[in-house]
Amino acid sequence: MCGIIGAASSRNVGKLLVQGLHKMEYRGYDSAGIALHQKDSIFNLRTLGKVSLLEKGMIEKRPKSKLGIAHTRWATHGKPSEQNAHPHYSDGEVHIVHNGIIENYLELKESLLSAGYIFQSETDSEVIAHLLHQHLQSSGDLLSAMHEAVKQLDGAYAIAAIHVADQNRLIAARNKTPLLIGIGLEENFVASDPLALSQLTNEFVFLEDGDVAEITHETYKIFNGKNSPVKREVTEIDIAVNAVTKGEYSHFMEKEIYEQPDAVASTINGKLGEDDVLDNIFGLRSSEVFSQIKRIQFVACGTSLHAGKVGRFWFEQIAKIPCYVDFASEYRYRDPLVEEGTLFVTISQSGETADTLAALRYAQGKDYLSTLCICNVPTSSLARESEHVLFTNAGPEIGVASTKAFTTQLTGLILLAMSIAKSLDIDKALRKNLAKELRSLPAAIEKTLKLSDEILKIVPNIADKDNALFLGRGMFFPIVQEGALKLKEISYIHAEAYPAGELKHGPLALVDDQIPVIALSPENTLTEKTCIKP
Ligand code: GLU
Repeated sequence: MCGIIGAASSRNVGKLLVQGLHKMEYRGYDSAGIALHQKDSIFNLRTLGKVSLLEKGMIEKRPKSKLGIAHTRWATHGKPSEQNAHPHYSDGEVHIVHNGIIENYLELKESLLSAGYIFQSETDSEVIAHLLHQHLQSSGDLLSAMHEAVKQLDGAYAIAAIHVADQNRLIAARNKTPLLIGIGLEENFVASDPLALSQLTNEFVFLEDGDVAEITHETYKIFNGKNSPVKREVTEIDIAVNAVTKGEYSHFMEKEIYEQPDAVASTINGKLGEDDVLDNIFGLRSSEVFSQIKRIQFVACGTSLHAGKVGRFWFEQIAKIPCYVDFASEYRYRDPLVEEGTLFVTISQSGETADTLAALRYAQGKDYLSTLCICNVPTSSLARESEHVLFTNAGPEIGVASTKAFTTQLTGLILLAMSIAKSLDIDKALRKNLAKELRSLPAAIEKTLKLSDEILKIVPNIADKDNALFLGRGMFFPIVQEGALKLKEISYIHAEAYPAGELKHGPLALVDDQIPVIALSPENTLTEKTCIKP
Protein backbone atom coordinates (compact mmCIF):
# COMPACT_ATOMS: atom_id res chain seq x y z
CA MET A 1 0.00 0.00 0.00
CA CYS A 2 1.01 3.59 -0.49
CA GLY A 3 1.27 6.51 1.90
CA ILE A 4 -0.48 9.01 4.11
CA ILE A 5 1.00 12.03 5.85
CA GLY A 6 -0.67 14.77 7.86
CA ALA A 7 0.65 17.73 9.86
CA ALA A 8 -0.64 20.21 12.46
CA SER A 9 2.02 22.86 13.02
CA SER A 10 2.82 26.40 14.01
CA ARG A 11 4.64 26.82 10.67
CA ASN A 12 3.63 26.27 7.04
CA VAL A 13 3.21 22.60 6.27
CA GLY A 14 2.77 22.37 2.47
CA LYS A 15 6.45 21.75 1.78
CA LEU A 16 6.84 19.29 4.68
CA LEU A 17 3.93 17.24 3.43
CA VAL A 18 5.26 17.06 -0.15
CA GLN A 19 8.72 16.10 1.16
CA GLY A 20 7.06 13.35 3.23
CA LEU A 21 5.31 12.02 0.11
CA HIS A 22 8.67 11.96 -1.70
CA LYS A 23 10.12 9.80 1.09
CA MET A 24 7.29 7.28 0.66
CA GLU A 25 7.67 7.07 -3.12
CA TYR A 26 9.57 3.78 -2.69
CA ARG A 27 6.27 2.14 -1.72
CA GLY A 28 4.81 2.56 -5.19
CA TYR A 29 1.84 4.76 -6.18
CA ASP A 30 -0.05 6.01 -9.21
CA SER A 31 -1.19 9.49 -8.13
CA ALA A 32 -0.73 12.00 -5.34
CA GLY A 33 -2.66 14.76 -3.64
CA ILE A 34 -2.79 17.26 -0.81
CA ALA A 35 -5.45 19.20 1.14
CA LEU A 36 -4.50 22.30 3.14
CA HIS A 37 -6.68 24.22 5.56
CA GLN A 38 -7.13 27.86 4.52
CA LYS A 39 -9.07 30.40 6.51
CA ASP A 40 -12.60 29.65 5.27
CA SER A 41 -11.93 26.90 2.80
CA ILE A 42 -9.73 23.91 2.05
CA PHE A 43 -7.21 24.00 -0.78
CA ASN A 44 -7.15 20.67 -2.67
CA LEU A 45 -4.66 19.66 -5.35
CA ARG A 46 -4.36 16.21 -6.96
CA THR A 47 -2.21 14.94 -9.78
CA LEU A 48 -1.97 11.72 -11.74
CA GLY A 49 1.60 10.36 -11.77
CA LYS A 50 4.67 11.52 -9.90
CA VAL A 51 4.84 13.48 -6.65
CA SER A 52 7.10 15.94 -8.52
CA LEU A 53 4.05 16.99 -10.59
CA LEU A 54 2.14 17.71 -7.39
CA GLU A 55 5.17 19.64 -6.15
CA LYS A 56 5.21 21.69 -9.35
CA GLY A 57 1.55 22.59 -8.80
CA MET A 58 2.34 23.58 -5.21
CA ILE A 59 5.21 25.81 -6.31
CA GLU A 60 2.92 27.58 -8.79
CA LYS A 61 0.08 28.08 -6.29
CA ARG A 62 2.11 28.53 -3.08
CA PRO A 63 -0.77 27.87 -0.65
CA LYS A 64 -0.06 28.81 2.97
CA SER A 65 -1.39 26.58 5.71
CA LYS A 66 -0.56 25.16 9.15
CA LEU A 67 -2.82 22.13 8.89
CA GLY A 68 -2.93 19.60 6.09
CA ILE A 69 -3.05 16.03 4.83
CA ALA A 70 -1.46 14.38 1.79
CA HIS A 71 -1.51 11.02 0.04
CA THR A 72 0.06 8.77 -2.53
CA ARG A 73 -2.46 6.33 -4.00
CA TRP A 74 -2.15 2.78 -5.26
CA ALA A 75 -5.55 2.23 -6.85
CA THR A 76 -7.68 -0.66 -5.68
CA HIS A 77 -11.13 0.71 -6.63
CA GLY A 78 -11.36 3.03 -9.63
CA LYS A 79 -8.65 3.61 -12.21
CA PRO A 80 -5.59 5.78 -11.54
CA SER A 81 -6.76 9.32 -12.42
CA GLU A 82 -6.81 12.83 -11.01
CA GLN A 83 -10.50 12.40 -10.17
CA ASN A 84 -9.85 9.22 -8.17
CA ALA A 85 -6.72 10.56 -6.45
CA HIS A 86 -7.01 11.49 -2.76
CA PRO A 87 -7.83 13.68 -0.79
CA HIS A 88 -11.54 13.08 -1.37
CA TYR A 89 -14.04 15.50 0.07
CA SER A 90 -17.67 16.02 0.89
CA ASP A 91 -19.32 19.32 0.11
CA GLY A 92 -15.87 20.94 0.08
CA GLU A 93 -15.99 20.90 3.88
CA VAL A 94 -14.41 17.70 5.05
CA HIS A 95 -11.36 16.27 3.24
CA ILE A 96 -9.88 12.82 3.82
CA VAL A 97 -7.00 10.61 2.78
CA HIS A 98 -7.27 6.84 3.09
CA ASN A 99 -4.93 3.86 2.70
CA GLY A 100 -6.56 0.47 2.49
CA ILE A 101 -9.82 -1.01 1.28
CA ILE A 102 -13.38 -0.40 2.53
CA GLU A 103 -15.06 -3.73 1.93
CA ASN A 104 -18.65 -2.61 2.45
CA TYR A 105 -18.33 0.60 0.41
CA LEU A 106 -21.04 -0.35 -2.12
CA GLU A 107 -23.64 -0.76 0.61
CA LEU A 108 -22.55 2.52 2.26
CA LYS A 109 -22.49 4.31 -1.09
CA GLU A 110 -26.07 3.26 -1.82
CA SER A 111 -27.32 4.66 1.45
CA LEU A 112 -25.30 7.88 1.03
CA LEU A 113 -26.63 8.30 -2.53
CA SER A 114 -30.17 7.99 -1.28
CA ALA A 115 -29.36 10.58 1.40
CA GLY A 116 -28.50 12.96 -1.47
CA TYR A 117 -24.68 12.77 -1.52
CA ILE A 118 -23.03 13.18 -4.90
CA PHE A 119 -19.98 11.02 -5.64
CA GLN A 120 -17.16 12.41 -7.73
CA SER A 121 -14.86 9.40 -7.82
CA GLU A 122 -15.04 5.65 -8.39
CA THR A 123 -13.11 4.90 -5.20
CA ASP A 124 -14.21 3.05 -2.10
CA SER A 125 -12.55 5.82 -0.05
CA GLU A 126 -14.97 8.62 -0.93
CA VAL A 127 -17.67 7.08 1.28
CA ILE A 128 -15.52 8.04 4.30
CA ALA A 129 -15.69 11.76 3.44
CA HIS A 130 -19.50 11.65 3.04
CA LEU A 131 -20.01 9.57 6.17
CA LEU A 132 -18.01 12.11 8.18
CA HIS A 133 -20.04 14.93 6.64
CA GLN A 134 -23.27 13.14 7.53
CA HIS A 135 -22.23 12.67 11.17
CA LEU A 136 -20.98 16.25 11.36
CA GLN A 137 -24.54 17.42 10.71
CA SER A 138 -25.62 16.12 14.12
CA SER A 139 -22.51 16.50 16.28
CA GLY A 140 -20.68 19.39 14.55
CA ASP A 141 -17.45 17.80 15.79
CA LEU A 142 -14.97 15.95 13.57
CA LEU A 143 -13.69 13.71 16.37
CA SER A 144 -17.19 12.43 17.26
CA ALA A 145 -17.98 12.12 13.55
CA MET A 146 -14.90 9.90 13.11
CA HIS A 147 -15.89 7.76 16.10
CA GLU A 148 -19.31 7.23 14.51
CA ALA A 149 -18.04 6.74 10.94
CA VAL A 150 -15.50 4.03 11.77
CA LYS A 151 -18.26 1.98 13.40
CA GLN A 152 -19.79 1.67 9.93
CA LEU A 153 -16.59 0.70 8.07
CA ASP A 154 -15.57 -2.89 7.31
CA GLY A 155 -12.10 -3.51 5.95
CA ALA A 156 -8.65 -2.02 6.36
CA TYR A 157 -7.97 1.65 6.75
CA ALA A 158 -5.58 4.35 7.81
CA ILE A 159 -7.47 7.64 7.58
CA ALA A 160 -6.58 11.28 8.16
CA ALA A 161 -9.26 13.98 7.93
CA ILE A 162 -9.59 17.74 8.25
CA HIS A 163 -12.69 19.96 8.50
CA VAL A 164 -13.13 23.50 7.29
CA ALA A 165 -14.63 24.61 10.62
CA ASP A 166 -11.61 23.35 12.53
CA GLN A 167 -8.34 25.03 11.66
CA ASN A 168 -6.29 23.41 14.43
CA ARG A 169 -7.08 19.71 14.40
CA LEU A 170 -6.66 16.72 12.22
CA ILE A 171 -8.36 13.45 13.10
CA ALA A 172 -6.93 10.05 12.25
CA ALA A 173 -8.10 6.44 12.52
CA ARG A 174 -6.50 3.07 12.03
CA ASN A 175 -7.63 -0.51 11.43
CA LYS A 176 -5.33 -3.21 9.97
CA THR A 177 -3.28 -0.64 8.06
CA PRO A 178 -0.25 1.05 9.67
CA LEU A 179 -0.57 4.58 11.02
CA LEU A 180 1.56 6.43 13.54
CA ILE A 181 1.84 9.79 15.21
CA GLY A 182 5.12 11.71 15.02
CA ILE A 183 5.76 14.07 17.94
CA GLY A 184 7.48 17.33 17.05
CA LEU A 185 8.22 20.66 18.66
CA GLU A 186 5.13 22.89 18.28
CA GLU A 187 3.97 20.44 15.65
CA ASN A 188 2.65 16.90 15.44
CA PHE A 189 2.19 14.55 12.52
CA VAL A 190 0.51 11.38 11.32
CA ALA A 191 1.98 9.07 8.72
CA SER A 192 1.76 5.52 7.49
CA ASP A 193 5.53 5.14 7.57
CA PRO A 194 8.05 6.63 10.04
CA LEU A 195 10.33 7.25 7.05
CA ALA A 196 7.92 9.99 5.86
CA LEU A 197 8.74 11.93 9.05
CA SER A 198 12.50 11.45 9.12
CA GLN A 199 14.22 14.79 9.70
CA LEU A 200 11.02 16.05 11.37
CA THR A 201 11.08 13.86 14.49
CA ASN A 202 12.46 10.67 15.95
CA GLU A 203 9.60 10.15 18.45
CA PHE A 204 6.71 8.01 17.31
CA VAL A 205 3.51 6.57 18.73
CA PHE A 206 2.21 3.56 16.81
CA LEU A 207 -1.59 3.47 16.71
CA GLU A 208 -3.38 0.17 17.23
CA ASP A 209 -6.37 -1.32 15.41
CA GLY A 210 -9.55 0.53 16.32
CA ASP A 211 -7.70 3.68 17.51
CA VAL A 212 -8.94 7.17 16.68
CA ALA A 213 -6.54 10.09 17.28
CA GLU A 214 -6.92 13.86 17.58
CA ILE A 215 -3.83 15.83 16.63
CA THR A 216 -3.09 19.52 17.06
CA HIS A 217 0.22 21.36 16.89
CA GLU A 218 0.39 21.35 20.69
CA THR A 219 -0.83 17.92 21.64
CA TYR A 220 -2.37 14.63 20.62
CA LYS A 221 -4.99 12.34 22.16
CA ILE A 222 -5.70 8.72 21.36
CA PHE A 223 -8.98 6.85 21.90
CA ASN A 224 -9.38 3.10 21.60
CA GLY A 225 -12.16 1.19 19.80
CA LYS A 226 -14.45 1.78 22.79
CA ASN A 227 -13.89 5.56 22.59
CA SER A 228 -11.96 5.57 25.87
CA PRO A 229 -8.80 7.72 26.04
CA VAL A 230 -5.66 5.55 26.01
CA LYS A 231 -1.93 6.13 26.40
CA ARG A 232 0.34 4.45 23.89
CA GLU A 233 4.06 4.06 24.29
CA VAL A 234 6.41 6.60 22.67
CA THR A 235 9.13 4.88 20.62
CA GLU A 236 12.36 6.56 19.56
CA ILE A 237 13.66 5.55 16.14
CA ASP A 238 16.54 7.11 14.30
CA ILE A 239 15.13 6.37 10.87
CA ALA A 240 17.92 7.54 8.61
CA VAL A 241 20.57 5.63 10.55
CA ASN A 242 18.44 2.52 11.01
CA ALA A 243 17.82 1.88 7.30
CA VAL A 244 21.42 1.85 6.12
CA THR A 245 23.58 0.64 9.01
CA LYS A 246 24.14 -2.79 10.50
CA GLY A 247 23.33 -1.56 14.01
CA GLU A 248 24.00 -4.25 16.62
CA TYR A 249 24.51 -6.97 13.96
CA SER A 250 27.79 -8.20 12.57
CA HIS A 251 26.66 -8.11 8.94
CA PHE A 252 23.63 -7.12 6.85
CA MET A 253 22.49 -10.68 6.27
CA GLU A 254 22.22 -11.24 10.01
CA LYS A 255 20.33 -7.97 10.41
CA GLU A 256 17.94 -8.94 7.63
CA ILE A 257 17.31 -12.37 9.15
CA TYR A 258 16.21 -10.60 12.35
CA GLU A 259 14.07 -8.17 10.35
CA GLN A 260 11.84 -11.01 9.13
CA PRO A 261 9.05 -10.61 11.73
CA ASP A 262 8.63 -6.91 10.83
CA ALA A 263 9.05 -7.52 7.11
CA VAL A 264 6.40 -10.25 7.07
CA ALA A 265 4.07 -8.06 9.16
CA SER A 266 4.46 -5.31 6.63
CA THR A 267 3.68 -7.66 3.70
CA ILE A 268 0.43 -8.60 5.46
CA ASN A 269 -0.47 -5.08 6.57
CA GLY A 270 -3.63 -3.77 4.97
CA LYS A 271 -4.31 -7.02 3.09
CA LEU A 272 -6.47 -8.95 5.59
CA GLY A 273 -9.96 -8.25 6.86
CA GLU A 274 -11.47 -9.91 9.92
CA ASP A 275 -11.78 -13.40 8.44
CA ASP A 276 -10.44 -13.23 4.92
CA VAL A 277 -8.10 -11.57 2.49
CA LEU A 278 -9.40 -8.21 1.14
CA ASP A 279 -10.47 -7.72 -2.48
CA ASN A 280 -8.13 -6.31 -5.13
CA ILE A 281 -4.95 -6.39 -3.04
CA PHE A 282 -3.08 -7.21 -6.27
CA GLY A 283 -4.38 -3.99 -7.83
CA LEU A 284 -7.32 -2.79 -9.77
CA ARG A 285 -9.81 -5.48 -10.89
CA SER A 286 -7.42 -8.25 -9.82
CA SER A 287 -10.21 -10.07 -7.93
CA GLU A 288 -12.34 -10.05 -11.10
CA VAL A 289 -9.46 -11.45 -13.20
CA PHE A 290 -8.77 -14.15 -10.59
CA SER A 291 -12.31 -15.50 -11.01
CA GLN A 292 -11.32 -16.64 -14.54
CA ILE A 293 -8.09 -18.43 -13.59
CA LYS A 294 -7.66 -22.08 -14.59
CA ARG A 295 -3.85 -22.49 -14.35
CA ILE A 296 -0.83 -20.64 -13.02
CA GLN A 297 2.58 -20.38 -14.64
CA PHE A 298 5.34 -19.26 -12.24
CA VAL A 299 8.63 -18.00 -13.60
CA ALA A 300 11.55 -16.96 -11.39
CA CYS A 301 15.24 -17.49 -10.59
CA GLY A 302 17.19 -18.68 -7.52
CA THR A 303 15.54 -17.99 -4.18
CA SER A 304 12.40 -16.60 -5.86
CA LEU A 305 12.09 -19.82 -7.86
CA HIS A 306 12.16 -21.80 -4.61
CA ALA A 307 9.42 -19.53 -3.25
CA GLY A 308 7.36 -20.32 -6.37
CA LYS A 309 7.90 -24.06 -5.88
CA VAL A 310 6.63 -23.82 -2.30
CA GLY A 311 3.74 -21.67 -3.51
CA ARG A 312 2.71 -24.38 -5.96
CA PHE A 313 1.61 -26.62 -3.08
CA TRP A 314 -0.55 -23.85 -1.68
CA PHE A 315 -2.20 -23.06 -5.00
CA GLU A 316 -3.11 -26.68 -5.44
CA GLN A 317 -4.33 -27.06 -1.84
CA ILE A 318 -5.93 -23.68 -1.17
CA ALA A 319 -7.11 -22.52 -4.61
CA LYS A 320 -7.35 -25.96 -6.31
CA ILE A 321 -5.46 -24.59 -9.30
CA PRO A 322 -2.78 -26.57 -11.17
CA CYS A 323 0.57 -24.77 -11.32
CA TYR A 324 3.71 -24.93 -13.41
CA VAL A 325 7.01 -23.53 -12.13
CA ASP A 326 9.86 -22.73 -14.53
CA PHE A 327 13.38 -21.37 -14.34
CA ALA A 328 13.12 -17.92 -15.95
CA SER A 329 16.30 -18.66 -17.84
CA GLU A 330 14.74 -21.79 -19.43
CA TYR A 331 11.12 -20.83 -19.89
CA ARG A 332 11.42 -18.78 -23.05
CA TYR A 333 13.55 -21.36 -24.83
CA ARG A 334 11.06 -24.20 -24.61
CA ASP A 335 8.22 -22.73 -26.65
CA PRO A 336 5.67 -23.18 -23.85
CA LEU A 337 2.09 -24.13 -24.65
CA VAL A 338 -0.32 -21.72 -22.99
CA GLU A 339 -3.62 -23.14 -21.84
CA GLU A 340 -6.69 -20.90 -21.69
CA GLY A 341 -7.12 -19.00 -18.43
CA THR A 342 -3.44 -19.19 -17.36
CA LEU A 343 -2.12 -16.44 -15.09
CA PHE A 344 1.58 -15.66 -15.65
CA VAL A 345 3.31 -14.89 -12.33
CA THR A 346 6.87 -13.60 -11.87
CA ILE A 347 8.65 -13.41 -8.51
CA SER A 348 11.75 -11.27 -7.93
CA GLN A 349 13.16 -9.31 -4.97
CA SER A 350 14.55 -6.47 -7.08
CA GLY A 351 12.02 -6.65 -9.91
CA GLU A 352 14.97 -6.30 -12.28
CA THR A 353 16.19 -9.93 -12.58
CA ALA A 354 17.17 -10.00 -16.26
CA ASP A 355 15.95 -13.52 -17.12
CA THR A 356 12.67 -12.99 -15.30
CA LEU A 357 12.09 -9.69 -17.08
CA ALA A 358 12.91 -11.29 -20.46
CA ALA A 359 10.44 -14.09 -19.64
CA LEU A 360 7.71 -11.56 -18.83
CA ARG A 361 8.30 -9.73 -22.10
CA TYR A 362 8.20 -13.04 -23.99
CA ALA A 363 4.97 -14.00 -22.17
CA GLN A 364 3.35 -10.71 -23.15
CA GLY A 365 3.34 -12.02 -26.74
CA LYS A 366 1.50 -15.18 -25.66
CA ASP A 367 -2.12 -15.74 -24.81
CA TYR A 368 -2.00 -15.45 -21.03
CA LEU A 369 -5.04 -14.38 -19.03
CA SER A 370 -2.97 -11.71 -17.29
CA THR A 371 0.47 -11.03 -15.80
CA LEU A 372 1.24 -10.58 -12.11
CA CYS A 373 4.42 -9.93 -10.21
CA ILE A 374 5.46 -10.31 -6.56
CA CYS A 375 8.41 -8.03 -5.87
CA ASN A 376 9.99 -5.72 -3.33
CA VAL A 377 10.75 -2.66 -5.44
CA PRO A 378 7.73 -0.70 -6.70
CA THR A 379 9.71 1.34 -9.19
CA SER A 380 11.19 -1.77 -10.84
CA SER A 381 10.69 -2.86 -14.45
CA LEU A 382 8.73 -5.99 -13.48
CA ALA A 383 6.35 -3.93 -11.34
CA ARG A 384 5.83 -1.41 -14.11
CA GLU A 385 5.37 -3.94 -16.88
CA SER A 386 3.05 -6.41 -15.10
CA GLU A 387 -0.71 -5.93 -15.04
CA HIS A 388 -1.03 -6.84 -11.35
CA VAL A 389 1.49 -6.47 -8.55
CA LEU A 390 1.98 -7.27 -4.90
CA PHE A 391 4.78 -5.39 -3.18
CA THR A 392 6.35 -7.34 -0.36
CA ASN A 393 7.37 -4.13 1.50
CA ALA A 394 10.32 -5.96 3.07
CA GLY A 395 12.51 -2.84 3.16
CA PRO A 396 15.94 -2.72 1.50
CA GLU A 397 17.74 -6.07 1.31
CA ILE A 398 21.44 -5.25 1.26
CA GLY A 399 22.88 -8.72 2.01
CA VAL A 400 23.57 -10.55 -1.27
CA ALA A 401 22.03 -13.81 -0.08
CA SER A 402 18.31 -13.35 0.14
CA THR A 403 16.62 -13.90 3.52
CA LYS A 404 13.66 -11.67 4.38
CA ALA A 405 12.86 -11.43 0.67
CA PHE A 406 12.20 -15.19 0.63
CA THR A 407 9.87 -15.20 3.65
CA THR A 408 7.97 -12.14 2.43
CA GLN A 409 7.60 -13.69 -1.03
CA LEU A 410 6.12 -16.79 0.61
CA THR A 411 3.75 -14.52 2.53
CA GLY A 412 2.77 -12.82 -0.75
CA LEU A 413 2.15 -16.21 -2.34
CA ILE A 414 -0.18 -17.32 0.47
CA LEU A 415 -2.08 -14.03 0.01
CA LEU A 416 -2.29 -14.75 -3.72
CA ALA A 417 -3.55 -18.31 -3.15
CA MET A 418 -6.17 -16.97 -0.71
CA SER A 419 -7.21 -14.19 -3.11
CA ILE A 420 -7.69 -16.65 -5.97
CA ALA A 421 -9.60 -19.05 -3.71
CA LYS A 422 -11.82 -16.13 -2.63
CA SER A 423 -12.54 -15.12 -6.25
CA LEU A 424 -13.33 -18.76 -7.10
CA ASP A 425 -15.40 -19.11 -3.93
CA ILE A 426 -13.39 -22.04 -2.55
CA ASP A 427 -13.27 -23.05 1.11
CA LYS A 428 -14.12 -19.99 3.15
CA ALA A 429 -13.41 -21.80 6.43
CA LEU A 430 -9.85 -22.59 5.33
CA ARG A 431 -9.28 -18.94 4.36
CA LYS A 432 -10.53 -17.82 7.77
CA ASN A 433 -8.05 -20.13 9.42
CA LEU A 434 -5.23 -18.97 7.16
CA ALA A 435 -6.00 -15.31 7.92
CA LYS A 436 -5.61 -16.12 11.62
CA GLU A 437 -2.39 -18.07 11.04
CA LEU A 438 -0.95 -15.28 8.91
CA ARG A 439 -1.57 -12.77 11.68
CA SER A 440 0.36 -14.92 14.11
CA LEU A 441 3.23 -15.52 11.69
CA PRO A 442 5.49 -12.61 12.77
CA ALA A 443 5.32 -13.83 16.40
CA ALA A 444 6.09 -17.39 15.28
CA ILE A 445 9.17 -16.19 13.36
CA GLU A 446 10.24 -14.18 16.40
CA LYS A 447 10.06 -17.37 18.49
CA THR A 448 12.05 -19.33 15.91
CA LEU A 449 14.81 -16.73 15.86
CA LYS A 450 15.26 -17.30 19.58
CA LEU A 451 16.59 -20.78 18.69
CA SER A 452 19.83 -19.24 17.45
CA ASP A 453 21.91 -20.46 20.43
CA GLU A 454 20.75 -24.04 19.79
CA ILE A 455 21.60 -23.69 16.11
CA LEU A 456 25.07 -22.34 16.90
CA LYS A 457 25.82 -25.57 18.78
CA ILE A 458 25.32 -27.55 15.54
CA VAL A 459 27.53 -25.28 13.41
CA PRO A 460 30.92 -26.87 14.31
CA ASN A 461 29.64 -30.20 12.91
CA ILE A 462 29.21 -28.62 9.50
CA ALA A 463 31.68 -25.73 9.24
CA ASP A 464 34.76 -27.82 8.34
CA LYS A 465 33.02 -30.16 5.87
CA ASP A 466 33.30 -29.98 2.09
CA ASN A 467 29.84 -31.28 1.26
CA ALA A 468 26.39 -31.35 2.81
CA LEU A 469 23.12 -33.02 1.95
CA PHE A 470 19.70 -31.48 2.53
CA LEU A 471 16.52 -33.57 2.60
CA GLY A 472 12.84 -32.66 2.68
CA ARG A 473 9.52 -33.86 1.29
CA GLY A 474 6.44 -32.15 -0.04
CA MET A 475 6.70 -28.39 0.21
CA PHE A 476 9.72 -28.80 2.46
CA PHE A 477 11.71 -30.01 -0.53
CA PRO A 478 11.91 -26.53 -2.15
CA ILE A 479 12.66 -25.14 1.32
CA VAL A 480 15.68 -27.42 1.69
CA GLN A 481 16.70 -26.45 -1.86
CA GLU A 482 16.75 -22.88 -0.58
CA GLY A 483 18.77 -24.07 2.46
CA ALA A 484 21.34 -25.77 0.22
CA LEU A 485 21.57 -22.64 -1.93
CA LYS A 486 22.23 -20.50 1.18
CA LEU A 487 24.98 -22.83 2.41
CA LYS A 488 26.69 -22.76 -1.01
CA GLU A 489 26.45 -18.97 -1.39
CA ILE A 490 27.55 -18.08 2.14
CA SER A 491 29.97 -20.81 3.20
CA TYR A 492 31.26 -22.11 -0.14
CA ILE A 493 30.37 -25.60 1.05
CA HIS A 494 29.00 -27.75 -1.73
CA ALA A 495 25.42 -28.70 -0.87
CA GLU A 496 22.76 -30.75 -2.64
CA ALA A 497 19.07 -30.99 -1.86
CA TYR A 498 16.97 -34.07 -2.50
CA PRO A 499 13.42 -35.16 -1.82
CA ALA A 500 14.08 -37.74 0.91
CA GLY A 501 12.58 -40.59 -1.13
CA GLU A 502 15.12 -40.05 -3.94
CA LEU A 503 18.11 -40.74 -1.73
CA LYS A 504 18.05 -44.45 -2.46
CA HIS A 505 18.14 -43.81 -6.23
CA GLY A 506 21.80 -42.87 -6.37
CA PRO A 507 23.00 -40.11 -4.02
CA LEU A 508 23.11 -42.48 -1.03
CA ALA A 509 26.30 -43.90 -2.56
CA LEU A 510 28.04 -40.60 -1.70
CA VAL A 511 26.95 -40.44 1.91
CA ASP A 512 29.65 -41.30 4.44
CA ASP A 513 30.50 -40.15 7.96
CA GLN A 514 31.97 -36.93 6.57
CA ILE A 515 28.70 -35.67 5.04
CA PRO A 516 26.32 -33.83 7.33
CA VAL A 517 22.71 -34.58 6.39
CA ILE A 518 20.21 -31.84 7.23
CA ALA A 519 16.58 -32.91 7.05
CA LEU A 520 13.47 -30.75 7.39
CA SER A 521 10.85 -32.97 8.83
CA PRO A 522 8.02 -31.24 10.66
CA GLU A 523 5.37 -33.48 12.12
CA ASN A 524 3.02 -34.23 9.28
CA THR A 525 1.89 -37.18 7.20
CA LEU A 526 5.34 -37.48 5.63
CA THR A 527 7.38 -37.53 8.85
CA GLU A 528 7.74 -41.30 8.89
CA LYS A 529 8.70 -41.27 5.20
CA THR A 530 11.57 -38.87 5.90
CA CYS A 531 13.08 -39.90 9.23
CA ILE A 532 13.89 -43.14 10.86
CA LYS A 533 12.72 -42.70 14.42
CA PRO A 534 15.63 -43.01 16.89
N1 GLU B 1 -8.82 1.88 -1.88
C1 GLU B 1 -8.44 3.23 -2.06
C2 GLU B 1 -8.45 3.66 -3.51
O1 GLU B 1 -8.51 2.88 -4.41
C3 GLU B 1 -7.12 3.58 -1.40
C4 GLU B 1 -5.96 2.85 -2.04
C5 GLU B 1 -4.66 3.21 -1.32
O2 GLU B 1 -4.40 2.60 -0.27
O3 GLU B 1 -3.97 4.08 -1.83
O4 GLU B 1 -8.42 4.79 -3.78
